[in-house]
Amino acid sequence: AFNFSAGPAMLPTEVIMQAQDEMLDWRGTGMSVMEMSHRGPEYTSIATEAEQDLRDLLNISDDYAVLFLQGGASSQFSMIPMNLLRGKSTVDYLNTGAWSQKAIAEAKRYAQVNVATDSTANRFTTIADQADWQLNSSAAYVHYTPNETIHGLEFAEIPDVGDVPLVADFSSTLLSRPLDVSRFALIYAGAQKNIGPAGLCLVIVRKDLLGQTLPGTPVMFDYKTHADNGSMYNTPATYSWYLSGLVFKWLKRNGGLEKMGEINARKASKLYQAIDGSDFYNNPIDPRYRSWMNIPFTLANSALDKQFLQMAADNGLLTLKGHRDLGGMRASIYNAMPEQGVDSLIAFMAEFERQYG
Ligand code: PLP
Repeated sequence: AFNFSAGPAMLPTEVIMQAQDEMLDWRGTGMSVMEMSHRGPEYTSIATEAEQDLRDLLNISDDYAVLFLQGGASSQFSMIPMNLLRGKSTVDYLNTGAWSQKAIAEAKRYAQVNVATDSTANRFTTIADQADWQLNSSAAYVHYTPNETIHGLEFAEIPDVGDVPLVADFSSTLLSRPLDVSRFALIYAGAQKNIGPAGLCLVIVRKDLLGQTLPGTPVMFDYKTHADNGSMYNTPATYSWYLSGLVFKWLKRNGGLEKMGEINARKASKLYQAIDGSDFYNNPIDPRYRSWMNIPFTLANSALDKQFLQMAADNGLLTLKGHRDLGGMRASIYNAMPEQGVDSLIAFMAEFERQYG
């Protein structure tokens, strides 16, 4: 079966099999990883190696702390203003979809939010040219969502925001292709899409920005707490961290992010071609900003949605139902989705159209 869930999403089969092999007894220690003390030598080696592998994959310099946190990407919506305002009162946000909106709503509790561009009027199907954005050079930071998981709208380029620190919610696209981390002040990503199981959120943050939190910030919401303690101020999500480490090794074995990028570009392009080549299926997103990871599409007749989903599931193509806000279908095709899964979906779509279109 191929699982097109937006998250928690498919993990590489090899990784799950390795975890299964090691489940009861990790490398002769007589312990499962989930039973280990996070401060013991065994787990410390797992945690350190995972961080190093992530640093290697993304070429992350020592100027950045890499944090393995809990609370999901949603906690970052508040932690970011709490940590990065640094005495300033205004922040810039780009509104390109449902996740941008959530980040904006939370930031408004702490700062004056300037929405520099807003795709609401076009129903989050395109992004205005940067020349038309209203950026504010005195903003504490600019926040954007490189890939909107629900709408399937993705920036093709990293925005150029000059000297203002750039902050990005990479939850549904980190590790899908190479990324120049040095362009960012802070990157965060919930793990449950391209990284590993739910329960873990990665934060990659420039160290020079730490230690200037808003008065009253809880110690657990201060990035410096976690940076100073190797993400072990409290008990971390040990098993999710371990599994993410196995995913990083899988990525390294399989050609790293360059190779992933090639495969992911091909997978997405095939599926969009199939949709565009048919009068029965439709994807509304401006082709310049189509997501490589989350591809929503509708059928010409929504009365057939149920049947489409049932027949897809009967063919081993799972979780294609669209987000409840948009309806229709959504195929999430993260790193762990083999190209063969996309080929099977395309073949099924063609056959369904032939029968019902
Ligand atoms: N941001 C984006 C882009 C997402 O796709 C999601 C979850 O799907 C979130 C934030 C929220 O993540 P979490 O559920 O880990 O808080």
